[in-house]
Amino acid sequence: MIIAIDGPSGAGKSTVAKLLAAKMGIVYLDTGAMYRAMGLKALNSGVSPTDAVEVEKLLAVTEIDVKNIDGTQHVYLDGEDVSTLIREHRVSKAASDISAIPCVRFAMVELQRKLASKKDTVLDGRDIGTYVLPNADHKFFLTASADERANRRYKELIAKGEECTFEKIKQDIITRDYNDSHRALAPLKKADDAIEIDTTEMTVDDVINKMISVLGD
Ligand code: C5P
Repeated sequence: MIIAIDGPSGAGKSTVAKLLAAKMGIVYLDTGAMYRAMGLKALNSGVSPTDAVEVEKLLAVTEIDVKNIDGTQHVYLDGEDVSTLIREHRVSKAASDISAIPCVRFAMVELQRKLASKKDTVLDGRDIGTYVLPNADHKFFLTASADERANRRYKELIAKGEECTFEKIKQDIITRDYNDSHRALAPLKKADDAIEIDTTEMTVDDVINKMISVLGD
């Protein structure tokens, strides 16, 4: 079984995808983590994440892998576990920029399809239902207001000790939304057959219950 959960940053995709996968006893794959790992590689290498020529050269000497250990996803960049590092705010913009470069998308999509072909999986991302796995058994598109999404991200970053302001986080989210939905290849877009859930006023449990009721129908 393949469940695709797409939507903009901060809509709650990873939180609900993780819980839904655990409830159903299937694997969770966070596809954004792969773009984040590639974004981190560019930052570490002094390569601009918008420079398609340099990024293509970098991609050729980069190894990204994902492993599920005791139900938790770990992301490896050239053999190093970067699961925590890729969550830093500076990596978000780099991930969004680098994800617009076609060779990066082709490599990540190939890996995503390979991983999803092995086991029943819940995948979260931007293009899972439209491009990566258009034949997914179930598709959800999660949204929330920009204020609510910025608020969630802000609280998360503050809890981790990162210095930031709500206004800056909100602006960055709006910029990322724009980039993600305007790139040429596989932009962020609701699949025609996806079920849209606006999570602005919903708790995590509300969202999970809604999804489970859809899955049970
Ligand atoms: O989901 P997350 O915020 O970790 O994703 C980071 C970035 O990776 C997104 O802003 C988006 O540009 C990119 N991404 C993507 N396609 C996916 C998942 C993430 O382009 N399937």
